[in-house]
Amino acid sequence: MDYIKVVEENLPDVSDARINYEGSKIVVYTRNLAFFLTGEEKIKGIVDQIKKRIEVRIEPDTLPSTDETIRKIKEIIPKEAEIEDIEFEPDFSKVIINVRHPQLAVGESGEIVKNIKKETLWIPFVQRVASPKSVPVDAIRKVLYESSRFRKKFLNEVGKKIYTTEPKETKWARVSCLGGSREVGRSCFLLQTPNSKVLLDCGLSTGASGEDQYPILTASDFDIKSLDAIILSHAHLDHCGFIPYLYKMGYEGPLYCTPPTRELAALLQMDTIDLMQKEYGKSLYTSTDIKEMIKHTIPLKYKEITDITPDIRLIFENAGHLLGSAITHLNIANGKRNIIYTGDLKYSLSNLLDPAFTQFMRSECLIMESTYGGPNDITARLEDAEKELVQIIEETKAKGGKILIPSFAVGRGQEIMVILDKYGVDIPVYIDGMIWDASSIHSTYPKYLAYKLQRQIIDESKNPFESEKFIHVVNWKERQQVMENKEPFVVLATSGMVNGGPIIEYIKKFSSDPNSALVFVGYQAEGTLGRRIQRGDKEVETHSGDKIQINFQLKTLDGLSGHSDRKQLLNYIGHLKEKPQRIAMVHGEMSKTVNLSETASKIFGIDAFAPWNLETFRFL
Ligand code: ZN
Repeated sequence: MDYIKVVEENLPDVSDARINYEGSKIVVYTRNLAFFLTGEEKIKGIVDQIKKRIEVRIEPDTLPSTDETIRKIKEIIPKEAEIEDIEFEPDFSKVIINVRHPQLAVGESGEIVKNIKKETLWIPFVQRVASPKSVPVDAIRKVLYESSRFRKKFLNEVGKKIYTTEPKETKWARVSCLGGSREVGRSCFLLQTPNSKVLLDCGLSTGASGEDQYPILTASDFDIKSLDAIILSHAHLDHCGFIPYLYKMGYEGPLYCTPPTRELAALLQMDTIDLMQKEYGKSLYTSTDIKEMIKHTIPLKYKEITDITPDIRLIFENAGHLLGSAITHLNIANGKRNIIYTGDLKYSLSNLLDPAFTQFMRSECLIMESTYGGPNDITARLEDAEKELVQIIEETKAKGGKILIPSFAVGRGQEIMVILDKYGVDIPVYIDGMIWDASSIHSTYPKYLAYKLQRQIIDESKNPFESEKFIHVVNWKERQQVMENKEPFVVLATSGMVNGGPIIEYIKKFSSDPNSALVFVGYQAEGTLGRRIQRGDKEVETHSGDKIQINFQLKTLDGLSGHSDRKQLLNYIGHLKEKPQRIAMVHGEMSKTVNLSETASKIFGIDAFAPWNLETFRFL
């Protein structure tokens, strides 16, 4: 159905209305100030009728100059909000105001923002500055500002494709497994209906070699030219690592994910380019391809309902696994079928995130992760892990030693920071590697964090990521200085499995000191340096051929995982509002996915199964 016609017919007195699609949104550009400022009721009536979002904006050529607008904005926004900079996207008639304290710039019930709109005619968008400061975050935002003309044209094409093609009857829906089935890594699923071809995740398998690293896109089902959309559940590389390559190979369609996922994914992909360069002397893609991805991304908040093809509606909900991680709810053919793809899932509270969402109105079909779905997968209690960590730090400090914590840049690193802040551990904590940038993205998007932490940041009582306890180690020179430090300290550094990153430097320096400790807080995969140290090898060799004698204390903390254990996964199914009729168990070692699907079948009396890669199943 062409909704633009409907909107046009309903606005006979706005003679100059220029009506466009911008993705699934409809935008009316006008020079009619009265309508712009007071037309809300009329627009609401049309929205009720067509159930699509409509926005009214002033034609860019009628807007006041940017200088005048900046002056007015600075007058209206209270000083205490601390404006850092103001950017314009004239193609969208939009002004982006970057401030340190968004709640002060927006006003109690949004009255300050409304006033800016009235006084300047620009559409204001208040954004929290990345804090602590982060170069990659600024770079990503710059790509967005600079590509606004491109994005406007792109969004219009996307909208036209969704709404102006006459859909065929949706008689079937099928999902093909192109990676991440009966294995962990390279997650990739292709959902097809008579009207749509949509990819759910497209990741890399970092542990594998050769073509097993990549999703099986040579499968005859897959055709990059006819792909309508990619949906990304979260920023981990086993879900997003292959996406820039699709843009390199000529994919020109949209990528849907939450705003924090867009930024974290770009950060991790940039890092993977470096790692590939070091390991293979070349990389699968370059930063240009990542930029293409950013330009084609349509960010969606949790609970925002969006048409992505003529017969698929998408809604993201919190997955509790990582900042911005989403459970994908796909409503097919106006609710004829609902598919829920969990991505990675945590169904219990952590310091960073609230537990995964379960209250779907409909959920006939479930595609679910099973990383820790095996009979022996029982995770320790979070509180026990926290207390043990604090105890290790206190004991090591008393002996005058250093505490080294290898950590993934995103998620685990911030969880540890919040724990150290919560317990008020009195010791300097050095943050080395990308953990710092990822923390910056965390405090930029407090609304995606656990409610308690969110209030802490928004109410300004205390942002743990800005605590003075944490000291950013920026370069190798500073790293040398830190290592010369005679006093005890904690260092939190990448990489999580010790197969690269600054943590190796610290390990080399302190591994022979029996008073220091290395604390593992995450999974150490077979074949990694972390695994060899963890299992007790007395001498290990790094990638670069350095031999390291291991003589410091080794500790492993369970209970800080971003995944649900077996009991939580089963509880998750049990707590869904509507029991699914079918469950495909994916994202787990073979025995675990098979075992979990058998158990779920028995407990809930539903058809649960563990598909193989390249298998296709019908959900409608
Ligand atoms: Zn993940």
